Amino acid sequence: MGGVWVVGEVDAAGALTKLSGEAATAARALGEAGSLDVRGVIVAAEPDGAAASLATFLPVVLTVRSPEALEQTAAAVIAARVAALVGAATEPPSYVVVGATPDGRDLAGALSALLEVGVLVGATGLAWGNAAEGVPAGPRVEMQPFGGRIVTTSAFTGDRGIILLRSNMVVAEPLAAPGRVEAGAAVEGLDVAPVRVVERIVAQSTGPSIDGARVIVSGGRGVGGPEGFAGLGELAGLLGGAVGATRAAVDAGWVDYAIQIGQTGKTVKPAVYLAFGVSGAIQHKVGMQTAETIVAVNRDPDAPIGEFADLFVVADLAAVVPALAAALRARAG
Ligand SMILES: Cc1cc2nc3c(=O)[nH]c(=O)nc-3n(C[C@H](O)[C@H](O)[C@H](O)COP(=O)(O)OP(=O)(O)OC[C@H]3O[C@@H](n4cnc5c(N)ncnc54)[C@H](O)[C@@H]3O)c2cc1C
Repeated sequence: MGGVWVVGEVDAAGALTKLSGEAATAARALGEAGSLDVRGVIVAAEPDGAAASLATFLPVVLTVRSPEALEQTAAAVIAARVAALVGAATEPPSYVVVGATPDGRDLAGALSALLEVGVLVGATGLAWGNAAEGVPAGPRVEMQPFGGRIVTTSAFTGDRGIILLRSNMVVAEPLAAPGRVEAGAAVEGLDVAPVRVVERIVAQSTGPSIDGARVIVSGGRGVGGPEGFAGLGELAGLLGGAVGATRAAVDAGWVDYAIQIGQTGKTVKPAVYLAFGVSGAIQHKVGMQTAETIVAVNRDPDAPIGEFADLFVVADLAAVVPALAAALRARAG
């Protein structure tokens, strides 16, 4: 059996994404359980910085310098480069782990077609299973389909496959000593799907990112509009946290999709999740249920979020948000 490869994702600034460290940590655990070699791959115009970061999690990282990644869609270029590396490898990987970001999903789809292997999407947990379970020894992938209504465990029917790991499912743990970075074999005549990037727009961030925030102040339809979110932004600032939102608030155009939490948004794992005017629909819950403490403010005593919040305050958020902000300001002196 071949090993496990992790394809790291590089952000707009050329840095390795946080989820890539999580994917590498999950892949390392699979490798240890299944006695498999684990390597990272970074394909980018300037891969060295991100590769050095990925090597803090993995013993070996291959780099592919790929200037065309700047002008063609990242997933198409990376998929073609990774498929070429797999084709040239003396020991091609059995499994490829990719972070489930929008680009990661694109990459997994393209790679699946090029390598002719299946993808298990939206993994919320990974373990190693043995053949006694009726399928070949290999990864057992936990997923939460139907908006988290059920939890399933799946395996590949053969001994190859791609796993898309959701964010915040694993705590990224660096190695005691960083691994080494090697240049991957260059492949000429790359066959990349003819889609060109004609413009890049960097989303204007209005505050800290929800990705690694310890405190998230989240708002739903009950917040009433963008001005209500300004109040949540002030509260988040006082708490050193980030603002999140439900899909209803995003669809209404009040806030940016980048802060949507849930099935079709991000998965977060803060220490404290403050939810204002959020009903607690299953598709939202699936993205925030792993928060350590959930505090919900809702004027409806029967709102579903009351069933899983640690503290459920039945009140009008229009009164609670300014009062809480005033109390925090007074405490700060
Ligand atoms: C395929 C699919 C994917 C989806 N993906 C997501 C996803 O990723 N994320 C997501 O969030 N949703 C997602 N949804 C939508 C989801 O089903 C819900 O519709 C959405 O989460 C509801 O958002 P909400 O809680 O803001 O709004 P609502 O359900 O309308 O709830 C608003 C809440 O605010 C309360 N409220 C109103 N006014 C006040 C006030 N003044 N003070 C206090 N409380 C007040 C109300 O009592 C109510 O409980 C998805 C749906 C589908 C079908």
